[in-house]
This record gives sequence, C-alpha cells and structure tokens, in this order.
Amino acid sequence: MKRIAIIGGGISGLSAAFALEQRRNTGAPLEYTLYESSASFGGVLRTERVEGCVVEAGPDSFLTEKPWASDLCRQVGLGEQLIGSNDGDRKTYILVKGRLIPIPDGLMFMVPTKILPVVLSPLFSRATKLRMSHEWFHPPHQADADESVASLVNRHYGPEMVEYLADPLLAGVYGGEASQLSVRAVLPRFADMESKYGSLGRAMLAARKKMPQGSSPPAPPLFTSLRDGMQSLIEIVLKRLPAAFLRPKTLVQALEPQDRGWLVSAGYDTDQFDAVIVATPATAAASLLNSAQSRLASELASIAYSSSVTVALGFDQKVRAALPPGFGFLVPRAENKRLLAATFVHNKFPHRAPADRALIRCFLGGSRDARILDLPDEEILRIVREEIRQILRLSAEPLFTRVYKWRASMAQYAVGHLERLERIERLRQQLPGLGLAGNGYRGIGVPDCVRSGQEAAEQVLAQ
Ligand SMILES: Cc1cc2nc3c(=O)[nH]c(=O)nc-3n(C[C@H](O)[C@H](O)[C@H](O)COP(=O)(O)OP(=O)(O)OC[C@H]3O[C@@H](n4cnc5c(N)ncnc54)[C@H](O)[C@@H]3O)c2cc1C
Repeated sequence: MKRIAIIGGGISGLSAAFALEQRRNTGAPLEYTLYESSASFGGVLRTERVEGCVVEAGPDSFLTEKPWASDLCRQVGLGEQLIGSNDGDRKTYILVKGRLIPIPDGLMFMVPTKILPVVLSPLFSRATKLRMSHEWFHPPHQADADESVASLVNRHYGPEMVEYLADPLLAGVYGGEASQLSVRAVLPRFADMESKYGSLGRAMLAARKKMPQGSSPPAPPLFTSLRDGMQSLIEIVLKRLPAAFLRPKTLVQALEPQDRGWLVSAGYDTDQFDAVIVATPATAAASLLNSAQSRLASELASIAYSSSVTVALGFDQKVRAALPPGFGFLVPRAENKRLLAATFVHNKFPHRAPADRALIRCFLGGSRDARILDLPDEEILRIVREEIRQILRLSAEPLFTRVYKWRASMAQYAVGHLERLERIERLRQQLPGLGLAGNGYRGIGVPDCVRSGQEAAEQVLAQ
C-alpha cells in the first residue's frame, strides 16, 4: 500500500487528492492524507450567498480556454452548473483622468487588431496611435533573455500602453506590476509572436486567420464559472474523498526525507509516507522543505507573493439601472486611487444577482499597496465607497457589504521565473517522492492550479 501526504487543501491540493482517489477507485493500492491548516478546505475559493446574490470572496471564474477546471467540474458531476460570461455585454473601461473610457473594440489584450476603433478611441494620445501604426512593421525579434512585460510592451507601443493598459490589466489578474512580471512566464504567447512575426498586431491577425471561418460554432465565452459559485467545486470534490483521509485544522510544521519516504510532522503527530505533495504557496513550501534541501527552499522562498483585498457591494434596482453597461473598469496607477479594478458582477454573470440587484466586486492591494491589508474593514469600506462615489458618481447606501483579505496569496512571476522553475525542478528530482503543486509555478489561475495538482499526483505515483 503506497501512502501519500498532501499538504495544503486549496484547489491544487484537492485536485491532487481527487486524482489519487480516482486511481484508488480503479484498484490502485494507495491511501493518502490531505492536511489543511485552516478549518475549511478550498483555500482562496470561497462563496457566500447574500440577499440572493452569489458573492465570490476569491476567484470569481476561470479562463475558458484553459480546460482543466471545467473538465474537473464535469468529472465531479458539476457539468450542468458551468456558466459562461455574458460576453455579448463585454466592455471594460479604463479610468483616465477621472473618466471611464471603454477599451476600444479590436484591442486584444493590448494588441490592436482593428484600426478604426483604436484610432477613434480617446484612450490613447496621437503619439501612441502613431507608434501602433509603426509597430505593424517591426521585424521579427528574438530576445536573448527574459524581460518584463513593461519592457516588451514599451518596445512595441510605448509607455502610455504600459501605464494605461498593461499595468492595470496585470494588477487586476496578478496583483502585480508590469515592470516586475516576466513576459515569458506571464505572456509566453507574446514572446513567441514577437520572435516569429515581429509585430504583435500582425501575429494576432495571422492567428485569427488560421481559425476556422464560415459556419463554425460561435466562440466560447471568455470566462467560465459555476452557477452556485466557485465553492461548490470544493464542496463536491470533498464529497468524493473519504472523510478518514482528510485532516482539517492541521498545520504541517516539518517534512523530513527518509531513506525510503518522508516523515510529516503536524503538532505532536509524526507520520511516515512514501511520497509527499506540497500544495501550499511556494513560500510555505520553502519553510517546510528547508531542512530537507536548503537550496530548493531558497529558490522557493524567492517566489514573491502579493496580497489582495476584495470588497463586495450590493445595491438595489435604481443603482443597477444607473450603472454603466459592461463588465467593469481598471484603474491605472497614475489615477492615484487605491482601487485596482471593479467588476459589475450582475452584467458579467447575470445568474449571480437577482434582476433587481446590482453587485459590484472591487479589487485592492496587490504588490503596490500591501499596507491596505492592515487597515480595519470599516476603513477599507470607507475608502472603497469614496472612490466608487468619485468614479461612478454613486453615493447610494449599499444594501450589503463584504470585505475579504487574502494575505500573500498571489504568486508574482518575476523576470527569470522560468529559469528558476528549471532549477527547482532539478532540485526536486534529487528528493525522491516529492511533488510540488500550486500557483507559485506554472500558472496562477484556477485551471493551472487544478492541472498542477493532477500532475503532481501522477508524478509521485510514477516514482
Ligand atoms: C482575490 C483573488 C482573486 C482571484 N481571482 C481569480 C480568478 O478570477 N480566476 C482564476 O483563475 N484565478 C483567480 N485567482 C487565483 C487562484 O484563485 C489561486 O491561484 C488558486 O486558487 C490557488 O490555489 P492553491 O490551492 O494553489 O492555493 P491556496 O488557495 O492558497 O491554498 C493553499 C492551502 O494551503 C494551506 N496551507 C498552507 N500552509 C500549510 C501547512 N503548513 N500545513 C497545512 N496547510 C497549509 C492553506 O491554508 C491553504 O488552504 C484569484 C486569487 C485571489 C486571491
């Protein structure tokens, strides 16, 4: 009987556990223990139901083009619950000098693919528009080394595109900064497009031409979620795992490699396993593995994490009618606000709010503003309401509010991240029976975390 410990009961650890459970169900001789330090499983996936609204405390959806989360939902019987974002109403605004300006049609993640809407948009100055037309003639460029997203975008479109699009987009997704994040780790497609075509615009159009034309099925929604909220995935996965294998409220303090297997210490208990999957944030993995392999621990500890705060504000029908259409807005740093982004949930996922409610989800913190986590909830609410009043001219009393703080929860893939992962992989292979999963490595989104858990399970089984 092979015994496996999984440390960390977020979506990464649960995905590893579910993969092992499936093997067990086909007769594989194995058992596992899933350790989670807090009272509940799921990590940052948490949903509340408030006044008929589905309020997401952490992630609200995942990218449809990455299949692993949707596939897991189908495997556990949640296929009927999958919902797509309401892309017919997709419109995102950027706050520019206090005004909300829509991102023009044809701008695909900061790459212009349609000339007219971009030329007519007040989002960019004439100088930037000129650079966009010159970009079309960039020759192929093979970068010798990794660089920041800001550096690549600056080379193609200039600093305004970095400040008003790249930076706010990355702050909204990673809680990070374009000047720090690695282009190869965060936007690998951009690095490939540049080396092949030079111009990102020409590369995007070439990719689009390759897509099937004519009577092809309509494009899938950009985002996928679950009708009853992201936490329903956690609840149903937990139901598929034997309760005897679950250890909530159990902080693992140390991992020690043995001649054969690993010792896992939690509180006064020490247990022997054949293999261990560490599915915690990389910083926690670093302290757990420090005595096992200090070089590996130091590489893991160098993966920085940012903290974030989400705030949910529920309003009535009058506010809903007065809010702009679209999915929400992003706030560039130059606007001197603490809000990084806000989503109009009732538009993005209409199933998440009754027809007479508006639900706004605000995002704060990130690597620029870690101090906000130290403020009391009332002060965070005061700041959010004041900035929402300024941006949306909205002073109505919310029907309800919620504040959620997520300390050191989002990995920052700094320049050189992929090289660091190669070193980590070499060091990991020196420790037989060790698997690593989580958002610190090859993707911060929920689908990549699911994949990382499944791959770690396969790895330790193969050894
Ligand atoms: C506010 C926010 C919004 C996000 N929005 C999106 C989104 O819309 N779409 C998307 O795809 N992704 C989003 N993400 C990213 C994504 O949700 C996370 O990257 C992913 O859920 C991380 O899962 P995980 O299991 O790797 O880590 P976590 O959820 O952090 O779970 C790790 C678990 O390990 C436990 N643990 C740590 N140390 C120990 C120990 N020593 N012993 C026992 N247990 C331990 C922790 O208690 C925790 O439960 C968002 C993240 C945040 C914070």
